[in-house]
Amino acid sequence: MKRIVKFVTALITLALIVSVASCGKNSGKKIVGIAMPTQSSQRWIQDGGNMKKILEDRGYQVDLQYAEDSIDAQVAQLENMITKGADCLVIASIDGETLTNTLQKAADAKIPVIAYDRLIRNSEHVSYYATFDNFLVGVQQGGYIVDKLGLADGKGPFNIEIFAGSPDDNNAYFFFNGAMSKLQPYIDSKMLVVKSGQIEFDKVATLRWDGATAQQRMDNILTAHYTSSNVDAILSPYDGISIGILSSLKSVGYGSGSKKLPIVTGQDAELPSVKSMIAGEQTQTVFKDTRTLAKRAADMVDSVLKGEDAEVNDTKTYDNGIKVVPSYLESPVSVDINNYKEALIDTGYYTEDQLK
Ligand code: BGC
Repeated sequence: MKRIVKFVTALITLALIVSVASCGKNSGKKIVGIAMPTQSSQRWIQDGGNMKKILEDRGYQVDLQYAEDSIDAQVAQLENMITKGADCLVIASIDGETLTNTLQKAADAKIPVIAYDRLIRNSEHVSYYATFDNFLVGVQQGGYIVDKLGLADGKGPFNIEIFAGSPDDNNAYFFFNGAMSKLQPYIDSKMLVVKSGQIEFDKVATLRWDGATAQQRMDNILTAHYTSSNVDAILSPYDGISIGILSSLKSVGYGSGSKKLPIVTGQDAELPSVKSMIAGEQTQTVFKDTRTLAKRAADMVDSVLKGEDAEVNDTKTYDNGIKVVPSYLESPVSVDINNYKEALIDTGYYTEDQLK
């Protein structure tokens, strides 16, 4: 009997060892925790999925979490990753200002952190930043409006309304400043008229990049300022916001009869927006290939975990309030009806069927 008990105990112990070994650090695989903001926007689903695949192919174990735009949920997810022994964290923050304590905990546990697409502010514990050239994104949006309206050829005046992204996202300021670098000269010369008078960032920002919030603001602007004239262009920083704005415009008759839809910019080349572009509604978007960014971040993970320097191409721009974070800026591409096939289908980002 004793022998049987001993045998069973040994079996259970063995099973435990095997099960512990097959998860977490004991599998021999390094663990990368990826914290993404939300699944309500297609781009982040692609970012997360692409990175998970690349990292798993390179032999890492990946813990991918989405926080549905709740700051508390994101902090809890990160702290859980730290407790479970992650070796490296890749974070696309919801609020870039609220992770200081969490990053301190990561640093105490010697876990390097890579900021993904959005800069994490107020912490020295950000090793690298993988992003796109965010100022250029704004230049492409503002520049598109200038070109399309023919402002440089002396055409005008035109009516424009301005939308910006979330004030807790460092990127939103870069997009806005980039776009305004193109638009402001024409606002100053009165060839662009903002009838609402809402021009400064804090008046035009959209908390959490929320399309419904933007739609509501567009409704209010149209009611208050455009009963006897039309709006010709809308600077929108992000596709989800553009779709909200377009709903508002269509609800008061833009896009039917002689009331043309204004030029509406966007960002991320999300499916609903590309379809809207093909249907002649949204005019432009900025394509940021999430495959490229995911690979860039994965390369940074490889480097930090090997104790090597990661490749960067910008060591000046992204001051997070404590230090300038070494960054790699990938290139955004302005897309409209004329080049979407080349940019999105020929590169394999979407299939033709997905755009039907
Ligand atoms: C990203 C954009 C995105 C926006 C809303 C920004 O931080 O850089 O690509 O449109 O967040 O999700």
